[in-house]
Amino acid sequence: MICDFSLQHYGELLEAARAGGYRFEAFDHDPVPGDLFLRHDVDLSLEAAVSVAELEAEAGARATYFLMTESVFYNLASTAGRRTLERLRDLGHRVGLHAVFPRADLDDRFEPVVAWHNPDPEYMSQPIEGAQNVMAPPFFRPESYRSDSNQRWRHGCPHEELAAGTFEWLQLLTHPEIWAFPGATMRETMEAMLEADRESRLRQLAEDRIDLS
Ligand SMILES: [Zn+2]
Ligand SMILES: [Zn+2]
Repeated sequence: MICDFSLQHYGELLEAARAGGYRFEAFDHDPVPGDLFLRHDVDLSLEAAVSVAELEAEAGARATYFLMTESVFYNLASTAGRRTLERLRDLGHRVGLHAVFPRADLDDRFEPVVAWHNPDPEYMSQPIEGAQNVMAPPFFRPESYRSDSNQRWRHGCPHEELAAGTFEWLQLLTHPEIWAFPGATMRETMEAMLEADRESRLRQLAEDRIDLS
């Protein structure tokens, strides 16, 4: 098994979690042993989110997708954004807000659960009024948290520990664009994402009645 950042290995992580006896849970109850909270911060690509969401649904897994309303990379209020929200829910997933501090403006598109985007330590784990901060108790403690930031697992790929049931419970943060686009480095993966984006931008231009002849 190769611990790369591919959809194939993401699927293997899900299999490992199942082998380890974990249950796929949402951020709606205090963690109990065996809970696995799949968290996705969607920073860059709704398409990548849907790719990962479909793979999870096929594997019988459920996750919480944290979507941005202030992203420079995508527009959640666009038709594509609304379709993504619908699709994620249809696949059985939950949707939380990936918020930019200090605004955590929840509306009926989101469950009352918030993950800050690129948080500073001062507020990262502070409670949020009217919402659960996923990095605050009871959902955060270092031994029950793993994340894939910039194609780097700070404590190694967790697939073996998942399969062995080593974690009492786990919040597993992954960024869909890292897994859905190919590339051996973050740079390569981002180049692949931009290439795909160019294709979809050309389609959007045509749909917007721009003359591309
Ligand atoms: Zn691995
Ligand atoms: Zn983020």
